[in-house]
Amino acid sequence: MTKTIQAIRGMNDLLPSDISLYQHVEEVLTKILLNYGFSEIRTPIIECTSLFKRAIGEDTDIINKEMYSFNDRRGEGITLRPEGTAGCVRAGIENSLFYNQEQRLWYIGPMFRYERPQKGRYRQFYQIGSEVFGLKGPDIDAELIIMTARFWRFLGIDNHVQLELNSIGSIETRKSYHHTLVNMLEKNIKKLDNDSKRRIHSNPMRILDSKNPSIQALLDNIPPLIDYLDDTSREHFTELCRLLDLAGISYHVNHRLVRGLDYYNNTVFEWITNSLGSQGAICSGGRYDYLVKLLGGPNVPAVGCAIGLERLILLVRSVYPLLKTKKVVDIYLISSGQGTKNSMLTFSEYLRNQLPEFKIINHFGGGNFSAQFSRANKLAARLVLALGENEVAHHTCIIKDLYNGIQKTISQHHAADILRALLTDTLRKKHKI
Ligand code: ATP
Ligand code: MG
Repeated sequence: MTKTIQAIRGMNDLLPSDISLYQHVEEVLTKILLNYGFSEIRTPIIECTSLFKRAIGEDTDIINKEMYSFNDRRGEGITLRPEGTAGCVRAGIENSLFYNQEQRLWYIGPMFRYERPQKGRYRQFYQIGSEVFGLKGPDIDAELIIMTARFWRFLGIDNHVQLELNSIGSIETRKSYHHTLVNMLEKNIKKLDNDSKRRIHSNPMRILDSKNPSIQALLDNIPPLIDYLDDTSREHFTELCRLLDLAGISYHVNHRLVRGLDYYNNTVFEWITNSLGSQGAICSGGRYDYLVKLLGGPNVPAVGCAIGLERLILLVRSVYPLLKTKKVVDIYLISSGQGTKNSMLTFSEYLRNQLPEFKIINHFGGGNFSAQFSRANKLAARLVLALGENEVAHHTCIIKDLYNGIQKTISQHHAADILRALLTDTLRKKHKI
C-alpha cells in the first residue's frame, strides 16, 4: 500500500468546519481595526534572515532556536517569518511610509516558529497584528490597549482575559540595570539553570522572564527595573496607567514582564488567560521606538501588538463550548418532474441575485422528492424549496421550514421576500456565535 504523506509536525489544516469561527473572529477584529483607522498591509512570508536577526535580537529564543531558515538557490539566507513587525517595518521603510506621516497598519497571516508543538503552540500559527508609527505618547499606547479590550468585549471573552503591564524603560535605563542584574546573578551563579547561565552576559533581561521558580525566587531579592526608570519613561508609564484607569481597563503591573523580543522599550503588555493551560498569552505588544531606525529608516517611534489567532479561537471555544460552527445551508432547492431542473436553475440564480447574503444550494444527482429531502436534512438546511411540474406550471414553489416542519405553497414572485423574512432569524443566530 502506498504510504500517505502527512502534514509537517506542528502545522495544521484548517478545515471547513473550523473556518466559520475563524471568519467570525477575523470579521469582528478587522471591523474594529477599521473603526480605529487602521489600514491593512500584506508583506511576504519570507524575508532575508538578517532582517529578523537585526530586528528581534541575536540572543532571543526566536533567533537561537525557533527560526525556519534556509539558503535559496543563490545561497541567500532566507527565513519564514516568525513574527510580523520586522517585515512591516521593512516594507514601511522601503516604500517610504514613515516620512512625516502617521501610519496605523494591521496585518494577518501565518507565522513560523520551530517550537515543540502542543495545545496553543504550533510551528505555523496565525497572527493578527497592529502597528502604529509616528506617535510617541502614552495616549496611543493606551488607545491600542483599549482597542484590544474592545476585541475581547465584542467576542464575549472579556471576563476571561487579564492585562499584564510593565515598562522596561529606555535602552540607557536597561543598560544600567543590566549591571545590577548581572552583578547579582553572578553572585548566585551556582543557583542558575543552564539557560540563565547562557544568558547572563548575552541577554540577562530575558532571565527576568524565566519560568523557573527558583530563579524567580532569586530575583525577588533585587529591586525591579521599574525602580530605575528615568523621568521620561516614568511619566510615560504613569500617564498610560492613568488613561487606562480613565477608560475603565483593569491591569496588573507585572515587573517581570519583559517580552521575548529585544526591540521593545517603555510600554510592554500581554493579555493572558488562565483557560488554556501554560499557553496563556493571547496578545502581546509594546512600544519599539528604536526599531525603524535600527533597520535603516528614519527615527520614528512605534507601538504595536499581535494576537495569536489559534489561541484566541481556543479561548472562544472554551468559553462557548456549545458554539455551533457548522455552516448552515440556508436554502436547498429540489426538483422532480419533466423540465423542473431547468426552472430550478433559473429560479436559484434569481434567488442568489435577491438574497446574496445567504447560502443557496441546488440539489443535483437525481432521486425522488423524499431522497432529496433527506439530503437537505443531512446538510442541515434551514429551508427547502421544492419545484414539481405543477409548481412550475403555476409559477409557485413549495417551501418547507425544516426547523419547525411547516410547509406551504407560495408564489415565486413573493419567494425572495418570504425567504428573507424567515432567514433573518437564522442569520441572527448564526452571527451570535
Ligand atoms: P510565548 O510566551 O507563548 O512563547 P511569545 O512571547 O513568543 O509567546 P510573541 O512573539 O509576542 O509570543 O507573539 C504574539 C502572540 O502570538 C502570542 O501572544 C501568542 O498568542 C502567539 N504565539 C506565539 N508563538 C506561538 C506559537 N508557536 N503557536 C501559536 N501561537 C503563538
Ligand atoms: Mg515564544
